Order: sequence, then C-alpha cells, then structure tokens
Amino acid sequence: MTVKLYKVEAVVLRARDCGNADKLLILYSKEHGKIKVMAHGASKPASRKRGAVQLFSHSRFLINSGRELDSISQGEVIEMFSYLMEDLEMISYASYLAELVDAIAPEGVPNGPLFELLLTTMRLLVAGDAELLTRAFEIKTIALLGYRPSLEQCAHCQRPPEGRLYFSPAIGGVLCDTCKPADLLALPCNKGVVETLKLILRWHPAKLQQLKIERPARNQIKSLLYEYIRYHLERDLKSAAFISGSGQVRQVLMYKNNLRGSK
Ligand SMILES: [Zn+2]
Repeated sequence: MTVKLYKVEAVVLRARDCGNADKLLILYSKEHGKIKVMAHGASKPASRKRGAVQLFSHSRFLINSGRELDSISQGEVIEMFSYLMEDLEMISYASYLAELVDAIAPEGVPNGPLFELLLTTMRLLVAGDAELLTRAFEIKTIALLGYRPSLEQCAHCQRPPEGRLYFSPAIGGVLCDTCKPADLLALPCNKGVVETLKLILRWHPAKLQQLKIERPARNQIKSLLYEYIRYHLERDLKSAAFISGSGQVRQVLMYKNNLRGSK
C-alpha cells in the first residue's frame, strides 16, 4: 500500500473533539483552500501536534491522504495568535472570521490572497479597529470569491448612481433612485457609506486605522454587508451577530479553563 503525503501551510478554522483524543479540523490552507482533516490523538497532553491543531493556529502540516478522510501526520506551529484568546471580544471577532471563511470558501480551491487576508486581519485585530477590520474582511473576502458588489455604478442600469441610493443584495450592489423598484427589499444607503465601502475594499487592512467612521455609518455598513453575505450564503452565519455563546467561543473558553486547571 502506498501512502501519499502532502504538505500545507494553514490556519485552523474549526477544531472539534471527536472521541479517543482525536480532533476533526477544518483548515484554510494556502495550497488547497478549505480542507477537512483528522488529527488522531491530538488532544493527548503529550501529543506533539497539540499546539498546531489549536483553533486559530497558523501551522505547517504534513498530511496523509486517506481513502475517506485525510489525516495529520505531523504539525508544527508557525504563529499561535494566543493573544486573541485573552479577551472575549477578540475571540468573537476571530471566530467570526474563521466561520465566515468556513461558510463561504469552497472546499479544495486554493485562494492565496484570501489566505493572506485572513492572516493579516488576525494579526491586526488586537491593536487595530477590530470592528472595521472585520467589515473590511467581509467585503474583501466576498470580492476575492467573485461576489464583489457593484459600487461605482448602479447594479441595475449600470449608470453612475444619482439621487437617493439603495443597496440590493439580490441585484448585486448599489441601486439608483430610478431603479429602486427593481428590488423592493433594497436597503437605503448613504453616498458616504458607498464611498467608505470603496475605500475599505481598496485599502490594505493596516491602513484602515486612518479612517474615522461615525457610529451610524458603521451600523449601516454592518447591516448592508450582513444582508449581502446572508443573501449569498442563503442562511444565517452562526456568529454573525457576535453572539458570545457560539460554538467556537464555548470551545475556546473550555480550552482556556482546561489550561488553567492543568497549571
Ligand atoms: Zn439604476
């Protein structure tokens, strides 16, 4: 029997305990995009894979191709992001980024820019404007996966949008006043918000610190992107409203408590 091995560099998006100290992982890898792998014995205290398979870890893995499910042969941590685990709000943001990629990225399709965007955003979260970084992550992710909303022209008549503006998830972007009847569910949208969306789509996440955005505009951006993503996913994301009791957050808290208990 031949064993086929392959290497990936990946971020752990999801880690679920599944008995016998095994963990089922969803990884976002540079080489193959989203992949599902088994990490046998990874929860054992002496396991050398333990750090590499932690939620949000950026790690290098050697993976065994299996008939049904691939499994991790070796794992080595590159970056831990343990500071994201220090604070419930950070855990919520990081969980949301991971869940969004898990929900929206197709399996087995590499997307180098999305992999880099995920890492960059996770690195910036703690010191930056976490809310704005998350909004930027949403719109950039959507765009990288081929669903960029139309912002420069009306998504319906293709003319430069004038007058009162609306945003239509179904038609795919901004609508002008004349085209509003094309989607009765289109949301009102300020001109300033459209300009901000263009900026956060274009700017590197590290530059977003320079943007001063008032609360009403932030709220509008949040609900426009939320509706847009929801329309494309056709279901609610578990932590879209940053519910602190989401599955991953509970998992992280349990992990932290275990660490405390073992000290
Ligand atoms: Zn129009």
